[in-house]
Amino acid sequence: MSINTLCTIFSALIGLCIGSFLNVVALRGLSGESIVYPPSKCPKCGKKLNWYTNIPVISYLFLGGKCQFCKEKISLQYPIVEAANAILYLFTYLNFGVSLKTLFIWVILSIFVLICITDFKERVVLDAHTYILMGTGLLYNILKLGTLSPIESLLGLAAGYLIFEIMAHFGTLTLKTRAFGEGDTLIAMGIGALLGYKMLILVVFVSVIIQALFAIPALFIKNLKNKNYKTCWALAVIVCSIAALKFLDANSNSYIFYLLGICMVLLCCLLVILKGIKTDKQEQNLSYMPFGPALVFSAFLMIFFSQKILSFFI
Ligand SMILES: [Zn+2]
Repeated sequence: MSINTLCTIFSALIGLCIGSFLNVVALRGLSGESIVYPPSKCPKCGKKLNWYTNIPVISYLFLGGKCQFCKEKISLQYPIVEAANAILYLFTYLNFGVSLKTLFIWVILSIFVLICITDFKERVVLDAHTYILMGTGLLYNILKLGTLSPIESLLGLAAGYLIFEIMAHFGTLTLKTRAFGEGDTLIAMGIGALLGYKMLILVVFVSVIIQALFAIPALFIKNLKNKNYKTCWALAVIVCSIAALKFLDANSNSYIFYLLGICMVLLCCLLVILKGIKTDKQEQNLSYMPFGPALVFSAFLMIFFSQKILSFFI
């Protein structure tokens, strides 16, 4: 076996093991327990896991997704996180080889995974995770692993704070509700420290698109069920206007249509948001999609495919 093959297998294996550890870190972080003690046990019957029932992914498949003692179902979150982390580690190694950069990107992607678990599960982002992200981002640029100078890295950190706090306060003023959680600001600061303010703006833009791709169909189905046909129409107009804008030739004299289309989209977005807040207040559950996962996913895209994404937009 060549050294390269060995390293490839090693990076996938270490990704699996760290992924297993990340599950524990995220869940114990949410419940405020210690990370090191007590050892892993079944949440239902409390029996300790043996070494052979604690192997990432394989144990889950071997046990058929059930606790070996009480047959309680084990959450799919465990094998999904383990496998995803292994793929991320492997992908990083294939891109950056045996280097300090690979090690740093591994740490950063693992924090992204933690943010996704806690935000999806309980819609919180833990401060500790985002502070480690900020520190790693700054150190990454101090060690000259990226393209930024330390000053630019600090500027990116500040830009993350400014962009998100301004948007959040704008939301508070206009919609009487905070548009983002404080956790999202901290994530943006970390991404800013890592990639700089220019890239951060692109990351925010792409994450809004990602968010919309999931939110629009979900909102449409929800409103159709609740017979809020006005909101459904507004959503349909948004999608059609954006599709129409894509087909308009920017070089011809169609800028009036462009302006009209953009106004239409913004107007309908406002209608959807206002209507959504009104019904949510009636139902007493402010249902929103967590923004953290979209943010870190788009940062991930920017780490590996920045050139492709830049050429797509410019
Ligand atoms: Zn059990």
